[in-house]
Amino acid sequence: MSEHLPMPFFIVDIAIPVSVLKTFHYLAPEELKSSLAVGSRVLVPFGSRRVTGTVVGFPATSAQEGLKKIIEVLGDPLSPDLIKLARWMADYYLHPLGLSIETMVPGALGTAKVKKKRYLNLLSGDHDLTMVRGPKQTELLLLLCDRQVVPWEELGDFSAATIKALCDKGAAEIVEKVAEETAGSGEFVADRPPTLMSEQEEAVRLIGVSAAAGTFDVVLLHGVTGSGKTEVYLHCIAALAGTGKGAIVLVPEIALTPQLLGRFRKRFGNRVAVLHSGLTDRERADEYRRIGAGLVDVAIGARSAVFAPFPSLGLVVVDEEHENSYKQDEGLRYHARDVAVMRAKFQNAVCVLGSATPSLESFYNARAGKYRYLPIANRVDHRPMPVVEIVDVKTLSKQSIYSPALISAVQQRLDKKEQTLLLLNRRGFSSVLICGDCGKVIQCPSCSVSLTFHKSERRLKCHYCDFHMPPPATCPVCGGINLKPLGTGTQKVEEEVAALFPGAAVARMDSDNTRGRDAHDRLLGQVDRGEIDILLGTQMIAKGHDFPAVTLVGAVDADVGLNLPDFRSAEKTFQLITQAAGRAGRGAVVGEVIIQTMNPGHYSLRHSMTHDYEGFYREEIAYRSELGYPPVRRIIKIEVKSGQEKIAAGAAMTARDRIRHLLKGKETALLGPAPSPIAKVRGKHRFQMLLLSPKRETLRMLALEARKAVEEKYGRKVQVIVDVDPVNLM
Ligand code: ADP
Ligand code: ZN
Repeated sequence: MSEHLPMPFFIVDIAIPVSVLKTFHYLAPEELKSSLAVGSRVLVPFGSRRVTGTVVGFPATSAQEGLKKIIEVLGDPLSPDLIKLARWMADYYLHPLGLSIETMVPGALGTAKVKKKRYLNLLSGDHDLTMVRGPKQTELLLLLCDRQVVPWEELGDFSAATIKALCDKGAAEIVEKVAEETAGSGEFVADRPPTLMSEQEEAVRLIGVSAAAGTFDVVLLHGVTGSGKTEVYLHCIAALAGTGKGAIVLVPEIALTPQLLGRFRKRFGNRVAVLHSGLTDRERADEYRRIGAGLVDVAIGARSAVFAPFPSLGLVVVDEEHENSYKQDEGLRYHARDVAVMRAKFQNAVCVLGSATPSLESFYNARAGKYRYLPIANRVDHRPMPVVEIVDVKTLSKQSIYSPALISAVQQRLDKKEQTLLLLNRRGFSSVLICGDCGKVIQCPSCSVSLTFHKSERRLKCHYCDFHMPPPATCPVCGGINLKPLGTGTQKVEEEVAALFPGAAVARMDSDNTRGRDAHDRLLGQVDRGEIDILLGTQMIAKGHDFPAVTLVGAVDADVGLNLPDFRSAEKTFQLITQAAGRAGRGAVVGEVIIQTMNPGHYSLRHSMTHDYEGFYREEIAYRSELGYPPVRRIIKIEVKSGQEKIAAGAAMTARDRIRHLLKGKETALLGPAPSPIAKVRGKHRFQMLLLSPKRETLRMLALEARKAVEEKYGRKVQVIVDVDPVNLM
């Protein structure tokens, strides 16, 4: 007879943060049916532990035997849109769903107590002043009719009895909800937005139309440096704020963008949530709750801000979309730019990718009609672009790392009390051999990337395929005998500047001496106030900053970036030089840029000299097509790691054999395996291989099979890392 009674339990499908590619079934009591939904967070038993899982579905199966029961339902559920995004990431990046969800959520969410505040609410209905008694009750009712909601701490004039009387009469109620920041009421005065230039206005209009209509769209906003892209974002967000739709703004590194944050704060006050890495888990969770409760118009942060839980989203901006820091290099190796596009898609929003130097991928997509292309060709107020000169250092004496042209240009700036930025490239850890006569670097015959010089073994090695050879005595291009390792130490560069310009105030900014926001802000403040004459620095000084008094930018060793063993080295160099040049001449004076190189004819330098992105793109895409590198084909990197070199090498061969066995046709290729350019990290030996194919499905299948083959043979002795769309090939 009991068969006909309703079952007291139902089955829920739960994603658990463990490294297996599956989800788990649990039982939940019937009475929880209405409080559980896709996205609910629950505490469940897992092995001998209790873990936080996320409900991802309600399977139709009725096989309940052996299933465990959920322990309790936690707070802070995720929206179904975010679960959809997590599913996409799990599938695209071949990563467990439970771990993908954990990547989206700040640690303290679902565990810490929600910060709630008390309010007195006017209840709807006709309130007649005759229903209240005495002047105090009348005063309170009038206040409520005027304000609808009053925070508890503003009720100090009224006694508990007065408040209770109104509640008892059904005119008011006491509620507790997520704290609403109060500073918004009148204290904050927004700055006045400037009148837009015509190209800016057109961009704002086009983005605004789709965003307001809730139509998914991806826009590549290609504006030269100083063309007012940020102002475009600000206008779009302001227009959306009135419609109740939120916006996300992703920036490459939050610590590097105090100026940008300042501009958002001046425009939107406390309706901005800043998600920076200095927040504790707790603070981050509080910001997420403010966003989830619809209390902010815009969330700004580095890549993980792409998961900011806006219930209704109108816009996702990826500023400086070409930046590599958008790719996470551990755990779930997602690219925030690509996730931003999918987030916009799932929430019918507009994704704006902004850059002066778009990634090849994005420009390629725009050319193919997948993204809408919006150019801004002019700088604000039609300020001229800086003048770029290239100095061939091969022809100079080897005494100094600074050419006479650069030295005299710096001296002129010192005389006029203007500022100079000197850009260094310090990523020269794996040296390459460069010819002092012709400036060419020795390359792999089949991969067209630089060969890396391994000093201890005295061999040149390719890190894409397994090609290697002893270092030649003469240059294979010109026959010269001046082959030498490339790269100058930062210290030497700094010492020489100090010696050349003894009276000048020199400062250095790189990731070693400016860790943390304070050090950074302090240094940038000094530059802004004109206390520094010459600022030396790596990549980071090229980024996004507005230095009105900087009129000269010098790239000291452009060749280092050009010759990294990476198929993107020309693209990265073009971006770096163009962005650095964009720092010069933002004020009234025309900027000047001097690039020192042994390769004056290199296309990435030639085109950055004329600010010609499309010219660069044409040459670069031809090279990518010829070798089948992205964006022409897709790419997955497979890396194997082990404490023992022999085991790592053996596992790499196992993966290779399985892939070769399955490889069909010419459009899919395997490069490697080869030792990674950094062959040993924290005691682990690394080997890597690259899979290239126009078809994502093919790559996926091969990568999964390779991983399985290694796991079957080596178990836990080897770690296999699958990196979809890798950026870091070191
Ligand atoms: P980008 O992000 O393209 O480098 P910004 O938005 O930072 O450019 O603009 C560069 C400078 O020009 C900023 O100081 C900004 O305040 C100013 N600016 C932007 N748009 C306008 C405008 N329409 N009128 C006047 N000044 C503007
Ligand atoms: Zn090679």
